Amino acid sequence: MKTVVKILLFFLFPLFLFTSCQQADQGKKDKMRVGVIRFSHETCTFCPRETGIKEWEYYGPPMQGKDVLSAGPYMRGFVDFCRETGGFILTGIYSPREAQGGSSGSWITREAFDKYTHGMQKDLQEQGPFDALYLSLHGAMAVKGILKPEAEIVRRLRTVVGDIPIFITLDLHANEDHELSDVADAVFIVKRYPHYDSYLQGERAAWVLYRTLKGTYKPVMATRKPGVITPSVFQWTGEAPAMEIMERARRWECRRKDVFVSVAFGFAYADVPDAGATLLPIMILRWPIPSPMI
Ligand SMILES: [Zn+2]
Repeated sequence: MKTVVKILLFFLFPLFLFTSCQQADQGKKDKMRVGVIRFSHETCTFCPRETGIKEWEYYGPPMQGKDVLSAGPYMRGFVDFCRETGGFILTGIYSPREAQGGSSGSWITREAFDKYTHGMQKDLQEQGPFDALYLSLHGAMAVKGILKPEAEIVRRLRTVVGDIPIFITLDLHANEDHELSDVADAVFIVKRYPHYDSYLQGERAAWVLYRTLKGTYKPVMATRKPGVITPSVFQWTGEAPAMEIMERARRWECRRKDVFVSVAFGFAYADVPDAGATLLPIMILRWPIPSPMI
């Protein structure tokens, strides 16, 4: 009798292992593969010192893997939501750290911009394919010879990943225009200055991306540039007019299910072509588009 059991175990055990591995592989296949990147800078082009590779790598070489997954509150909000759903496999893609000097740094050199975007392309190529990308950007990056750096980042990454959803979070001091909404699928911007809600916007981006990949949401964006410029000192959202503008954006979001209204006040200390318009509403609408909200 014992021999019969041993023989059975001998044949059944490998079969059990094989089935378990197959189930594990199937579980992985069902998950959504998202590459995440952080490349954030608020560039004061009137400041004296340029921001080159030396400044970008002052605190260490570019990150990869789990270091990227905890890089800043937007990223943590995004990652925490994905982990709670359990439906994602997240990969931290080659991303530079904070640049030395932060916003006191002037123009980013072309050499630095090319190094980091090419590094991202290479890493995406090696670690792909992906179902979607999440980019934690700032929106006020200024690069020598590149007029709209955030849009250019998305364009460069698309050459590798193709037509997959690319979701972005931005600071409200972003200088952007339609070029970014033309190439990205969804943009979420903080509504508070100081930026208490960066984590929340990261979480929100993850939630909408989750629904987009499941097919229950189709993001569509519109961009408006009212031609207004304000200095940062008048953008505190505890007082009018900034408080009222953001309150109106929240009201629109509350009145329409699945509508997200993002406003960027812009960053006045940058000599860039899209700096002039400091109000930038970006709406993400459910399909079909609801009747006009405004
Ligand atoms: Zn800011």
